[in-house]
Amino acid sequence: MSDPQTALVISAHSADFVWRCGGAIALHQSKGVEVTVVCLSYGERGESAKLWKQKGMTLDKVKTERRKEAEAAASALDVHDIQFFDVGDYPLDLGRETQDRMVDVIRAVQPKWMMSHSKWDPYNTDHMYTTDFALTCRMMAQAWGHNPGQKVLGAPQLYLFEPHQTEQMEWKPNVFLDISEVWDKKRAAIECMQGQEHLWDYYTNVAENRGNHFRRNSGGMAGGRKATHAEGFQMVFPQTVDELV
Ligand SMILES: [Zn+2]
Repeated sequence: MSDPQTALVISAHSADFVWRCGGAIALHQSKGVEVTVVCLSYGERGESAKLWKQKGMTLDKVKTERRKEAEAAASALDVHDIQFFDVGDYPLDLGRETQDRMVDVIRAVQPKWMMSHSKWDPYNTDHMYTTDFALTCRMMAQAWGHNPGQKVLGAPQLYLFEPHQTEQMEWKPNVFLDISEVWDKKRAAIECMQGQEHLWDYYTNVAENRGNHFRRNSGGMAGGRKATHAEGFQMVFPQTVDELV
């Protein structure tokens, strides 16, 4: 038997993978691709306002709650493996030690594609530094001289998933993925994020709008392929193809 196909999502905080690529994760899992998610932090300081408003809240309690939510969401999406680096947030600590940890994961997973945030995010620099970090770690994992003896990485595509306040982020999708058949799983995962209930309907609307764009781009004015929900991505690297489609 050949090795299973794999993919890797690098999420700055423990909820980002749910809003931004939960559909891609569930869809690929259903196709037999084993998706690993790395959450660099729990978003415990910057993305947990609702928890912090509760009386007697502590950093450890917030982290525990956020971890439970992320694990429940990962289970709803059938995530193969979720890892929490717990390097703090606002800001993340993405120094050499974290890089080396990440490269070990990339080389162990050998993803056929990777996913991370937009290149620019002036509202949340954790997000854009995570993308820089993902590119740096991808480069390190490809270097034959880094930890010789480990299996070096090929050239997986890095897909940038959709940020919040899209128009402010210099993010422009060039791939739409039909996630209609796994939408129920994504919505179930979204509803695991109890601390950010204000985003549930927002990200449902995003998926519906991207579904419209999928239809428009798959079939023009005459009406394209039916898709109720979709996710948009921006590719960093060129595709290599045998034939134009
Ligand atoms: Zn985030």
